[in-house]
Formats: sequence, structure tokens, C-alpha cells
Amino acid sequence: VDGIAPALPVVGADTLVPLVDGRRVPYANLDVAASAPALEAVADHVARVLPLYASVHRGAGYLSQVSTALYEQARRTIGAFVGARDDDGVIVTRNTTDALNLLAGCLPADPATGQPGRVLVLDIEHHANLLPWQRTTDTTVLTGGPSVAATLAALRDELRESGPYALVATTGASNVTGESLPVAAVVEAAHAAGARVVLDGAQLVPHRPFSLAETGVDYVAYSGHKTYAPYGAGALVGRRDWLDAGTPYLAGGGAVKRVRVTETAWHDGPARHEAGSPNVIGAVALAAAADALRAVDPAELALHEAALRDRLVVGLGNLDRVQVVRCWDDAVDPVGVVTFTVTGYDPGLVAAYLSAEHGIGVRDGRFCAHPLLGRLGFDAGAVRASVGVGTPGSDVERLIAAVAALVEHGPQAQYDVVDGLWVV
Ligand code: PMP
Repeated sequence: VDGIAPALPVVGADTLVPLVDGRRVPYANLDVAASAPALEAVADHVARVLPLYASVHRGAGYLSQVSTALYEQARRTIGAFVGARDDDGVIVTRNTTDALNLLAGCLPADPATGQPGRVLVLDIEHHANLLPWQRTTDTTVLTGGPSVAATLAALRDELRESGPYALVATTGASNVTGESLPVAAVVEAAHAAGARVVLDGAQLVPHRPFSLAETGVDYVAYSGHKTYAPYGAGALVGRRDWLDAGTPYLAGGGAVKRVRVTETAWHDGPARHEAGSPNVIGAVALAAAADALRAVDPAELALHEAALRDRLVVGLGNLDRVQVVRCWDDAVDPVGVVTFTVTGYDPGLVAAYLSAEHGIGVRDGRFCAHPLLGRLGFDAGAVRASVGVGTPGSDVERLIAAVAALVEHGPQAQYDVVDGLWVV
């Protein structure tokens, strides 16, 4: 895939990084599942609106009005990006973790028990879609079955035991393997049992069109820094009833209608959960990324990513001693995340070698998905390469060649563990 160009231009694509032998080479960023570089269109837009920045919602000055309009327009764009229904709430959060914690605080009590209903999650989830539920409510963690079909059957079984206040919290795409359960099937099973569905969209919405209205998913959470916007903003979008009745996520200015010394009347709507000065620039960047992604034919983006992913799976999978991590054999249309191990080498060493000797950035470890890595037998961790709209095919070829060289000749430099990190 050497000749494949990025599908969309991102900033920093020509950054040079130093190697251990003193050379400087273009950085191959194969860690976009952790944080994706911003689109050029996003960086340009942010630079244009930065001078218009003034206090939001509370100021009467002209620029305050402009900032407020930009923020509220960004909210509408963010909602449209995930296909929000007319009456869905769109709350700007810090990231996916923040969004899921917010929802966890809004689970209504089941009148039969006085407690929030059960939450069902698979053990393949990122900790962000496991720990908020574990902390708040009665959470059932299902072990992913050997196949998608078996896992869905287990989920359906479990849903029979759940009341109408149950919630299925499921990933749109695993940050370890890129795989997921089919959303339509999860929604059908959950709704048939009277339960709702929240989708962890962190790894899905940067890569595929997604619509709450079309899928029937009740809530979606995602992060700007994985969706080609800079850090700082994410979103929770979904059904307003639980959000409007939930405990305000933060207590403070902006979330209230009226305050007396002893009592407070909280707003409904997004303001209820957005106390404090809002992140206007973060929201504007998130919306600009949504606009830029939606301006391109999604089939073109999916094709670009599938070509890179397929090449990684085949190119790495064909190397001796390299094992590619999968949850299921029958998962369809995984996103561009490929996790692997190289027998005989600690994943931390592999990642350090790729950086120091080849200028390639990957992630190693257990990817905030300890239960999954443990169940699949990768307690010592693994190495993850991930691609996005800004990834050229040549970066993928560089990785495959570098791993092939490691398998054949071993690392050329000396590596050591210092404070738990592999370094040259
Ligand atoms: N869910 C998934 C699937 C993720 O990949 C991540 C980030 N690695 C998160 C949730 C958490 O995202 P954030 O750190 O932006 O809150």
C-alpha cells in the first residue's frame, strides 16, 4: 500500500523525529487510536475563531454573543454528526470517559427496587466503559464468547433477567482489535427487553458514519482528540429524560436557574451538566472536525482505512513469531486498529525499538482493557498500530518492514527498563 496517500490532510504530517543513530526521519504516527492528529481544516478553523473568544452565556458584549453563538452552533453540529433525534440532549464533555461517567450518574432508580437498574457490559470494554458502571450500579460483566453470534446469544439470555431500567453499555469498536458486536442486533435485543443502549463511540465515530436516529442507540459518547480535533472536548448525546432527571454532573455556575442559600433549582437540558465556563474552542474544534469528515464520501474514508488495516493484518500476520490479537473470527468491518505481539520480545521493547530505530509511534501495554487482554492470554501486554484518515500507506509499510527486521535480526541498539519504561 506504499502509494496510498492520506485521505484527508492532518497537521504535523511532515514532522521529523530523531533516531538512535543520529538520523532524522519523518514520524510515522501509527497511534491515532490513542489521539489522532488534528485535521488541517480543524486547525485553520480554530485559528480563525480564536480571536473571537470571549465569555460565553453570561456576557452581553458583542464577542460574548459571538462566542455563545459559536458554542451553541457547535452543539448542533455535534448532535447532527451522530444523528441525534430532535429531542436528544447534546452535552459537551471533556472526553468519552467524562461522558460515560456523566451518564452513570443519571441512571434512574427502578421503582421496584429503589436502585438503578442493571448495567450489562462485555469484558472487551475499555475501562472508561466499565469502571463508571462498576462504581455506580449493579454491573454484570459478560465474557465475550468465541464468536460474535455466541456473544450475542449470551447477551440476549442475560437481558431476559434484566428489568426495564437496564442499560447495555457496548463499544462501537474495540480499541484493542477494532471489532464490535453489530449495533443493530444489540439494540434489538436490548429494546426487546425494555433496556437502553449506550455506545462507547470513541473508536467508531472517527471512522464510520454513525446515527442515533437510524440505529436506535439511546446514548453515544465520544472524544474530540480521537476524532481529528485537539484535546479538551468530547460529547454525550442521547435521550433527554434520564439526563434531565439525573444529578447535575458538576455543581456550579451556569447549571442553575435559581440559588438560595439553602436550596438550588437546577436547569434542564445540557446546561444542567455543564457547570463552569464551557470549553468553547474545544466544542468548536469538535464541530469543525465533524464538518470536515462529513464533507468527504464515507465510503472513500472506509476504503482507505480498510486497505491499510488489511495490509497490517496480512503483513504482520505473515511474519514468523508475530501474532495478531482478535476477539472473534466472525466480526465484520473492524476499524483500523491492529494489535500484535512478537514472541520473545516484551511489547515495551518492541514499541521502544520502533520509535528509536525507525521513527514509528505505536502504543504498547494493556490499552486500558485489562480484562480483555487477560482473558485472551496477553497479560504481559501487546503492541498496537492504528491508522486514520491522515495515515499514508508508506507508514504501514515502514511498520511491517521494521517488525520483519526485528524478527530477523533483533534490535540493533541496547534497551533497558528504567522506571518501568523501555529505553535505549
Ligand atoms: N473508549 C475507547 C474504546 C477508547 O479507545 C478510549 C480511549 N483510548 C476511551 C473510551 C476513553 O477515551 P478518553 O480517554 O478520550 O476519555
